Amino acid sequence: SGRWALHGKTALVTGGTRGIGRAVVEELAALGAAVHTCSRKEEELGERIKEWEARGFRVTGSVCDLSARDQRERLLREVADHFGGKLDILVNNVGTNIRNPTTEFSAEEYSFLMATNLESAYHLCQIAHPLLKLSGSGSIIFISSVAGVVGIFSGSVYAMTKGAINQLTKNLACEWAKDNIRANSVAPWYIATSLTEGLLANKNFEEQVVSRTPLGRVGEPGEISALDAFLCMPGSTYITGQTISVDGGMTVNGFY
Ligand code: NDP
Repeated sequence: SGRWALHGKTALVTGGTRGIGRAVVEELAALGAAVHTCSRKEEELGERIKEWEARGFRVTGSVCDLSARDQRERLLREVADHFGGKLDILVNNVGTNIRNPTTEFSAEEYSFLMATNLESAYHLCQIAHPLLKLSGSGSIIFISSVAGVVGIFSGSVYAMTKGAINQLTKNLACEWAKDNIRANSVAPWYIATSLTEGLLANKNFEEQVVSRTPLGRVGEPGEISALDAFLCMPGSTYITGQTISVDGGMTVNGFY
C-alpha cells in the first residue's frame, strides 16, 4: 500500500502559497503526508491553510522570510516541535530572480539573490539534518532550474545559485548517504506561476520561450510536483544526487 503513497510521512515545503510550492504542498498532502509550509505574507498563508483544511489536507504554516538566518532557525524549531523531531521530506522551493544584465547587478541585488536562492536552501539542509536523519529515510528535493544546467537568458546570478544547488545535491547525496538521506534536484524550464506571469504575458517573450521547447508550450506547476512526489516515495529509493530537468525537452534541443 505504501509504494505509491506518503501516509505517515512528514514534509517541509518552503514557499507553498503560490506557484510550484503550492502544487507541491497539495500533491504531497493528497498522497497522505502531513505538510508544513511557509511564506512571507501572513494573510495569503492563512487563506491557503483554510482552503487546504477544507479539502481535508493536513497542512500547517509559519510566516517567515527565508532570506534571514534567524527566521530559518525559528522555522526549523517550529517544524521540530510540530513533527516531534522527525522530518521525512524537505522541499527547498523558495527562490526568485532579478533579471538584470551582469554589468548592472548591484552588490545588494547580488546578496539578496544569493541569500534567498542559495544560502537559505543550504542552511535549511544543515539545520534539518538531525530531523531528516531521525526519519531513517529522508529525502531532500531542491527546486533548481534549467538555468543551472545550460546557459539561458535568465541572468548570471540566478544561474549561479541554481548551478550551485545542483552541485550541493551531488555533495549531500554522498555525504549523507550514510544517514540514508537522499538529495535530488528538479530543474524546471518555464512554468506558469506568479513569478513568470508578467514575463509570459509579453507575447514576444512567450514565443521566444515556446520556440525553444520541443513540446511547444510552457509547463504547469503540477508537472513539477508530480516528480517531487515520486522522489519522496519508496519507488525512488535508489535515486540520489541527480538533477532532473522538467523542461518539455528544452535542454536536449539541439537545432529544433
Ligand atoms: P512564485 O514567486 O510564484 O512563488 C514563490 C513562493 O515562495 C511564494 O509562496 C512566496 O510567498 C514564497 N517566497 C518567496 N520568497 C520567500 C522568502 N524569502 N521567504 C519565504 N517565502 C518566500 O515562484 P515559482 O513557483 O515560480 O518558483 C518556485 C521555485 O521554482 C523557485 O526556486 C524558482 O527559481 C524555481 N523555478 C521556477 C520556474 C518558473 O518558470 N516558474 C522555472 C525554474 C525554476 P511570499 O512572496 O508571500 O513570501
